[in-house]
Amino acid sequence: MKLNFLLLTFLLLVACSTSPTGRKQLNLVGESQMQQMGKDSFEKLKQQEKVSTNQAANTYVSCVSHRVLKAMGEKPSDWEVVVFEDKSPNAFALPGKKIGVHTGMIDLAQNPDQLAAVIGHEIGHVLASHGNERVSQNIVAQGTMAAASLAIGQDTTKDQLLIAALGVGAQVGVLLPFSRKHETEADLLGLKYMSKAGFNPQEAANLWVQMKQKAGGSPPEFLSTHPSPDSRIKTLRKEADKYRSQYKKNDQNTQCSKPS
Ligand SMILES: [Zn+2]
Repeated sequence: MKLNFLLLTFLLLVACSTSPTGRKQLNLVGESQMQQMGKDSFEKLKQQEKVSTNQAANTYVSCVSHRVLKAMGEKPSDWEVVVFEDKSPNAFALPGKKIGVHTGMIDLAQNPDQLAAVIGHEIGHVLASHGNERVSQNIVAQGTMAAASLAIGQDTTKDQLLIAALGVGAQVGVLLPFSRKHETEADLLGLKYMSKAGFNPQEAANLWVQMKQKAGGSPPEFLSTHPSPDSRIKTLRKEADKYRSQYKKNDQNTQCSKPS
Protein backbone atom coordinates (compact mmCIF):
# COMPACT_ATOMS: atom_id res chain seq x y z
CA MET A 1 0.00 0.00 0.00
CA LYS A 2 2.74 2.38 0.96
CA LEU A 3 4.70 1.49 -2.13
CA ASN A 4 1.65 2.11 -4.30
CA PHE A 5 1.18 5.48 -2.71
CA LEU A 6 4.80 6.41 -3.39
CA LEU A 7 4.53 5.22 -6.95
CA LEU A 8 1.39 7.24 -7.54
CA THR A 9 2.96 10.32 -6.00
CA PHE A 10 5.94 9.88 -8.26
CA LEU A 11 3.77 9.48 -11.34
CA LEU A 12 1.71 12.53 -10.44
CA LEU A 13 4.84 14.59 -9.97
CA VAL A 14 6.36 13.69 -13.31
CA ALA A 15 3.14 13.73 -15.29
CA CYS A 16 1.65 17.14 -14.66
CA SER A 17 1.57 19.26 -17.80
CA THR A 18 -0.32 22.21 -19.27
CA SER A 19 -2.84 22.16 -22.12
CA PRO A 20 -2.69 24.70 -25.02
CA THR A 21 -5.31 26.82 -23.24
CA GLY A 22 -3.26 26.86 -20.04
CA ARG A 23 -5.19 24.22 -18.12
CA LYS A 24 -3.22 21.93 -15.79
CA GLN A 25 -3.55 18.30 -16.78
CA LEU A 26 -2.38 14.87 -15.75
CA ASN A 27 -0.71 12.86 -18.50
CA LEU A 28 0.64 9.57 -17.20
CA VAL A 29 1.25 7.83 -20.49
CA GLY A 30 4.35 8.63 -22.53
CA GLU A 31 3.81 10.61 -25.72
CA SER A 32 5.39 7.90 -27.88
CA GLN A 33 3.11 5.26 -26.35
CA MET A 34 0.05 7.41 -27.07
CA GLN A 35 1.21 7.83 -30.66
CA GLN A 36 1.71 4.10 -31.02
CA MET A 37 -1.78 3.47 -29.65
CA GLY A 38 -3.23 5.95 -32.12
CA LYS A 39 -1.38 4.40 -35.05
CA ASP A 40 -2.37 0.85 -34.07
CA SER A 41 -6.02 1.81 -33.64
CA PHE A 42 -6.04 3.58 -36.99
CA GLU A 43 -4.54 0.55 -38.76
CA LYS A 44 -7.21 -1.66 -37.19
CA LEU A 45 -9.95 0.72 -38.32
CA LYS A 46 -8.62 0.72 -41.87
CA GLN A 47 -8.77 -3.08 -41.89
CA GLN A 48 -12.21 -3.33 -40.30
CA GLU A 49 -14.02 -0.47 -42.00
CA LYS A 50 -14.52 0.33 -45.67
CA VAL A 51 -12.03 2.94 -46.85
CA SER A 52 -13.50 5.25 -49.49
CA THR A 53 -11.79 5.39 -52.87
CA ASN A 54 -14.06 8.21 -54.05
CA GLN A 55 -11.61 10.71 -55.53
CA ALA A 56 -13.78 13.81 -55.01
CA ALA A 57 -14.52 12.98 -51.36
CA ASN A 58 -10.85 12.30 -50.60
CA THR A 59 -9.67 15.48 -52.33
CA TYR A 60 -12.24 17.54 -50.43
CA VAL A 61 -11.41 16.16 -46.98
CA SER A 62 -7.64 16.42 -47.60
CA CYS A 63 -8.02 19.99 -48.85
CA VAL A 64 -9.87 21.11 -45.72
CA SER A 65 -7.62 19.12 -43.34
CA HIS A 66 -4.42 20.42 -44.90
CA ARG A 67 -5.50 24.04 -44.59
CA VAL A 68 -6.38 23.57 -40.92
CA LEU A 69 -3.14 21.68 -40.21
CA LYS A 70 -1.02 24.36 -41.90
CA ALA A 71 -2.71 27.01 -39.76
CA MET A 72 -1.65 25.02 -36.69
CA GLY A 73 1.96 25.00 -37.81
CA GLU A 74 1.74 21.30 -38.67
CA LYS A 75 3.22 19.78 -41.83
CA PRO A 76 0.17 18.35 -43.64
CA SER A 77 2.21 15.63 -45.37
CA ASP A 78 3.06 14.19 -41.93
CA TRP A 79 -0.63 13.45 -41.34
CA GLU A 80 -2.64 10.58 -42.75
CA VAL A 81 -6.18 11.57 -43.76
CA VAL A 82 -8.61 8.75 -44.54
CA VAL A 83 -12.26 8.86 -45.66
CA PHE A 84 -14.38 5.95 -44.42
CA GLU A 85 -17.43 4.76 -46.33
CA ASP A 86 -19.93 5.07 -43.51
CA LYS A 87 -23.26 6.90 -43.43
CA SER A 88 -23.07 7.81 -39.72
CA PRO A 89 -21.79 11.38 -39.32
CA ASN A 90 -18.51 10.91 -37.50
CA ALA A 91 -14.95 12.22 -37.56
CA PHE A 92 -11.96 11.69 -35.32
CA ALA A 93 -8.27 12.48 -34.99
CA LEU A 94 -5.77 10.26 -33.22
CA PRO A 95 -2.32 10.70 -31.70
CA GLY A 96 0.29 9.63 -34.25
CA LYS A 97 -1.09 12.21 -36.73
CA LYS A 98 -4.18 10.41 -38.02
CA ILE A 99 -7.50 11.87 -39.19
CA GLY A 100 -10.59 9.86 -40.12
CA VAL A 101 -13.79 11.29 -41.63
CA HIS A 102 -16.94 9.31 -42.44
CA THR A 103 -18.76 10.00 -45.71
CA GLY A 104 -21.80 10.69 -43.48
CA MET A 105 -19.96 13.68 -42.00
CA ILE A 106 -19.16 15.00 -45.49
CA ASP A 107 -22.90 14.87 -46.23
CA LEU A 108 -23.88 16.48 -42.93
CA ALA A 109 -21.46 19.42 -43.08
CA GLN A 110 -23.12 21.87 -45.46
CA ASN A 111 -19.92 23.58 -46.58
CA PRO A 112 -16.09 23.43 -46.22
CA ASP A 113 -16.26 25.79 -43.22
CA GLN A 114 -18.42 23.37 -41.25
CA LEU A 115 -16.15 20.46 -42.13
CA ALA A 116 -13.16 22.56 -41.03
CA ALA A 117 -14.94 23.16 -37.71
CA VAL A 118 -15.29 19.45 -37.06
CA ILE A 119 -11.76 18.61 -38.15
CA GLY A 120 -10.32 21.52 -36.15
CA HIS A 121 -12.24 20.34 -33.09
CA GLU A 122 -10.95 16.78 -33.47
CA ILE A 123 -7.33 17.82 -33.98
CA GLY A 124 -7.84 20.10 -30.96
CA HIS A 125 -8.57 17.00 -28.84
CA VAL A 126 -5.29 15.46 -30.00
CA LEU A 127 -3.05 18.52 -29.67
CA ALA A 128 -4.45 19.14 -26.17
CA SER A 129 -3.64 15.50 -25.22
CA HIS A 130 -7.22 14.74 -24.16
CA GLY A 131 -6.78 11.03 -24.89
CA ASN A 132 -3.78 10.89 -22.60
CA GLU A 133 -5.64 12.75 -19.88
CA ARG A 134 -8.59 10.35 -20.11
CA VAL A 135 -6.35 7.30 -20.04
CA SER A 136 -4.56 8.80 -17.04
CA GLN A 137 -7.81 9.47 -15.20
CA ASN A 138 -8.75 5.82 -15.72
CA ILE A 139 -5.39 4.75 -14.37
CA VAL A 140 -5.81 6.81 -11.22
CA ALA A 141 -9.37 5.58 -10.79
CA GLN A 142 -8.32 1.98 -11.08
CA GLY A 143 -5.42 2.16 -8.71
CA THR A 144 -1.74 2.25 -8.83
CA MET A 145 -0.98 -1.34 -9.79
CA ALA A 146 -2.73 -0.79 -13.10
CA ALA A 147 -0.75 2.42 -13.36
CA ALA A 148 2.50 0.59 -12.94
CA SER A 149 1.74 -1.98 -15.62
CA LEU A 150 0.34 0.61 -18.00
CA ALA A 151 3.26 2.92 -17.54
CA ILE A 152 5.57 0.20 -18.82
CA GLY A 153 3.09 -0.83 -21.51
CA GLN A 154 2.41 -4.42 -20.48
CA ASP A 155 -1.31 -4.45 -19.82
CA THR A 156 -3.23 -5.74 -22.81
CA THR A 157 -6.50 -6.24 -20.92
CA LYS A 158 -7.12 -2.50 -20.89
CA ASP A 159 -6.82 -2.08 -24.64
CA GLN A 160 -10.52 -1.44 -25.10
CA LEU A 161 -10.63 1.31 -22.54
CA LEU A 162 -7.49 2.85 -23.96
CA ILE A 163 -8.88 2.89 -27.47
CA ALA A 164 -12.18 4.29 -26.18
CA ALA A 165 -10.22 7.03 -24.42
CA LEU A 166 -8.93 8.11 -27.81
CA GLY A 167 -12.50 8.75 -28.91
CA VAL A 168 -13.01 5.83 -31.31
CA GLY A 169 -14.80 3.48 -28.96
CA ALA A 170 -17.70 2.28 -31.10
CA GLN A 171 -15.48 -0.20 -32.87
CA VAL A 172 -14.55 -1.88 -29.58
CA GLY A 173 -17.98 -1.45 -28.01
CA VAL A 174 -17.03 1.15 -25.42
CA LEU A 175 -18.34 4.70 -25.84
CA LEU A 176 -16.53 7.11 -23.57
CA PRO A 177 -17.87 10.67 -23.78
CA PHE A 178 -15.43 13.55 -23.68
CA SER A 179 -16.05 15.77 -20.66
CA ARG A 180 -17.56 19.25 -20.90
CA LYS A 181 -14.11 20.64 -20.10
CA HIS A 182 -12.49 18.78 -22.99
CA GLU A 183 -15.29 19.67 -25.37
CA THR A 184 -15.03 23.38 -24.62
CA GLU A 185 -11.28 23.30 -25.00
CA ALA A 186 -11.48 21.43 -28.33
CA ASP A 187 -14.16 23.85 -29.55
CA LEU A 188 -12.05 26.90 -28.76
CA LEU A 189 -8.93 25.40 -30.34
CA GLY A 190 -10.97 24.40 -33.39
CA LEU A 191 -12.37 27.92 -33.78
CA LYS A 192 -8.93 29.44 -33.54
CA TYR A 193 -7.38 27.10 -36.10
CA MET A 194 -10.23 27.21 -38.61
CA SER A 195 -10.26 31.03 -38.55
CA LYS A 196 -6.54 31.13 -39.01
CA ALA A 197 -6.95 28.82 -42.00
CA GLY A 198 -9.45 31.24 -43.55
CA PHE A 199 -12.63 29.31 -42.76
CA ASN A 200 -15.66 31.18 -41.45
CA PRO A 201 -15.84 30.64 -37.66
CA GLN A 202 -19.57 31.43 -37.66
CA GLU A 203 -20.15 28.08 -39.33
CA ALA A 204 -18.91 26.09 -36.33
CA ALA A 205 -22.15 26.61 -34.41
CA ASN A 206 -24.14 25.78 -37.57
CA LEU A 207 -22.41 22.41 -37.82
CA TRP A 208 -23.68 21.48 -34.35
CA VAL A 209 -27.17 22.66 -35.25
CA GLN A 210 -27.03 20.31 -38.23
CA MET A 211 -25.81 17.52 -35.99
CA LYS A 212 -28.61 18.09 -33.51
CA GLN A 213 -31.27 18.12 -36.21
CA LYS A 214 -29.88 14.95 -37.73
CA ALA A 215 -29.81 13.26 -34.33
CA GLY A 216 -33.59 13.30 -33.91
CA GLY A 217 -34.60 10.42 -31.65
CA SER A 218 -31.35 8.48 -31.73
CA PRO A 219 -28.12 10.46 -31.33
CA PRO A 220 -25.32 9.37 -33.68
CA GLU A 221 -22.12 8.07 -32.12
CA PHE A 222 -20.54 11.46 -32.57
CA LEU A 223 -23.05 13.07 -30.21
CA SER A 224 -22.60 10.27 -27.68
CA THR A 225 -18.88 10.92 -27.46
CA HIS A 226 -19.20 14.71 -27.94
CA PRO A 227 -22.13 15.67 -25.68
CA SER A 228 -23.92 18.91 -24.81
CA PRO A 229 -24.64 20.48 -28.22
CA ASP A 230 -26.97 23.17 -26.80
CA SER A 231 -24.51 24.91 -24.51
CA ARG A 232 -21.82 24.45 -27.13
CA ILE A 233 -23.85 26.16 -29.87
CA LYS A 234 -24.37 29.19 -27.62
CA THR A 235 -20.70 29.45 -26.68
CA LEU A 236 -19.51 28.94 -30.26
CA ARG A 237 -21.72 31.74 -31.56
CA LYS A 238 -20.39 34.11 -28.94
CA GLU A 239 -16.74 33.12 -29.32
CA ALA A 240 -16.83 33.17 -33.14
CA ASP A 241 -17.09 36.99 -33.10
CA LYS A 242 -13.62 37.23 -31.62
CA TYR A 243 -12.15 35.41 -34.59
CA ARG A 244 -14.07 37.09 -37.37
CA SER A 245 -11.47 39.74 -38.16
CA GLN A 246 -8.71 37.16 -38.17
CA TYR A 247 -10.67 34.98 -40.56
CA LYS A 248 -11.22 37.83 -43.01
CA LYS A 249 -7.54 38.73 -43.04
CA ASN A 250 -6.46 35.31 -44.16
CA ASP A 251 -6.17 34.62 -47.83
CA GLN A 252 -8.19 31.74 -49.11
CA ASN A 253 -6.06 30.75 -52.06
CA THR A 254 -6.83 27.09 -51.74
CA GLN A 255 -10.53 26.73 -52.28
CA CYS A 256 -11.93 23.44 -51.10
CA SER A 257 -15.24 22.64 -52.70
CA LYS A 258 -17.75 20.13 -51.44
CA PRO A 259 -18.42 17.39 -54.00
CA SER A 260 -21.97 17.50 -55.35
ZN1 LIG B 1 -15.11 16.61 -28.98
